[in-house]
Amino acid sequence: MSVKRDSKERIRSRITNTKHDLQEIGEFGLINRIRKRVTSSDPALVQGIGDDVAVIATGLTALLVTTDMLIEDIHFDLSWTDPYTLGRKSLAVNLSDIASMGGTPKYFLISIGLPKNLPLSFVSSFYRGLKKESERYQVELIGGDTSLSQKIIINICLLGEGKKRDLLFRKGAKAGDDLFVSGTLGDSALGLKILQEKGKIKGAEGLIKKHLSPCPRVKLAQAIAKHHWATAMIDVSDGLLIDTSHLLEESEVGARIWEGMIPLSRPYQKWIRAFSKDPLQLALSGGEDYELLFAAPPGMRNRILSLVHAHQIPITRIGEILHKKEGFHIVSKNRKEYSPSRLGFEHFR
Ligand code: ADP
Ligand code: MG
Repeated sequence: MSVKRDSKERIRSRITNTKHDLQEIGEFGLINRIRKRVTSSDPALVQGIGDDVAVIATGLTALLVTTDMLIEDIHFDLSWTDPYTLGRKSLAVNLSDIASMGGTPKYFLISIGLPKNLPLSFVSSFYRGLKKESERYQVELIGGDTSLSQKIIINICLLGEGKKRDLLFRKGAKAGDDLFVSGTLGDSALGLKILQEKGKIKGAEGLIKKHLSPCPRVKLAQAIAKHHWATAMIDVSDGLLIDTSHLLEESEVGARIWEGMIPLSRPYQKWIRAFSKDPLQLALSGGEDYELLFAAPPGMRNRILSLVHAHQIPITRIGEILHKKEGFHIVSKNRKEYSPSRLGFEHFR
């Protein structure tokens, strides 16, 4: 054993022998600890850590900044995604965060870590997918970084803008508001489960597509924000329950969600029983829906539902915002109320 390797092992054992590890606090526990240690007195910083994007005031408009990372074998598997589709998805997941504020995405930088034996055609195809998605949402690639890596790592930093007074945050929901969600839930998580357990089976193409090629709700979110119909919004990326809990925490409120109102697609209803004992589990806790979850006063109900026709995207009232002391409850289909114990996916757990 070389001296260098010996000392490396000693350092690692010192690190791993400490009392606490990441598994104990989870991804969100870690983010909270980081957040508590960061202070800023910059008056231009409207929102730092704690929302889908950071918001920096520049006069009447605001600069929006977000970043998301995709790692091979954690976020994607090359046995079922092709590089073109991966390129599109890498940008789409970032677009969804800008959407959640009701903002307009503008520019992005991309950093990639790649193994040295990766065919050049993979990279060309990946960038073709990236270009297609960037043209669709009218965003421009302005830079990035490139490095050698054992597995593929993709990190995008997306910049956007929005009128300061129109932006929607995780905070802002009020007791008495309705809680809405766009689209249908659980399709992506079920699509992933099908890929993992059976591969690309006939009849499940729609679910698999929802997982591999998510469609960020940029235009719908802009319409909601522009009219000031909602009080708070987040995109559903980690699962309905966990993302609802983020919105509730930031807004300092509680909520009640009716299981019977959760929007499920026909393919989800057709396939779910073959892949899960609990038919709602993936809709409640599966991730990567990239739908919008938002609160709005009951007086806005009809106006919000009018967007369904204009945007051809379902919008469903799934619950109500409560006072914080009332907590977070789910009403099951047989009308029993329970508090969710495990909310959904979290890294390190
Ligand atoms: P999303 O699911 O919308 O991408 P995350 O749960 O990843 O949001 O992040 C929540 C908040 O924590 C965001 O404001 C994000 O910028 C911030 N954040 C996440 N990871 C870190 C980190 N390692 N250091 C500092 N801030 C972080
Ligand atoms: Mg988000």
